[in-house]
Amino acid sequence: MDKSFPVTRTDAEWRQRLSPEQYAIMRRHGTEAPGSCALLFEKRPGTFHCAGCDTALFAGKVKFESGTGWPSFNDPLPGAVAVEVDRRYGMVRTEVHCATCGSHLGHVFEDGPPPTFLRYCINGIAMSFVPE
Ligand SMILES: [Zn+2]
Repeated sequence: MDKSFPVTRTDAEWRQRLSPEQYAIMRRHGTEAPGSCALLFEKRPGTFHCAGCDTALFAGKVKFESGTGWPSFNDPLPGAVAVEVDRRYGMVRTEVHCATCGSHLGHVFEDGPPPTFLRYCINGIAMSFVPE
């Protein structure tokens, strides 16, 4: 990712802000183990925020149980995330990252429920939850 984002940090600053697990996922395109994050079970009303810059990304009400082991959402908040084509691992997927700081969040697939039929499959560790 060579684009510039409203929030930019040096590699050292990212390492300081994020846990080693968060750094591996958010700055090195990693993926957490399915079912590993407590946010998967978060069902209260509230908002999911980027762990890299605190920007609100997803409203809790669009979260749904996809059975994949990763927090899944129907739709991001307007303008909160950006996407790019990811051709890693011999697959063509759509990568999702924070539009504010560029941190990798997960992928989006076209097999979600109505109304958008999208499934944003997001690493829980890349987010923090703020209850209403
Ligand atoms: Zn961010």
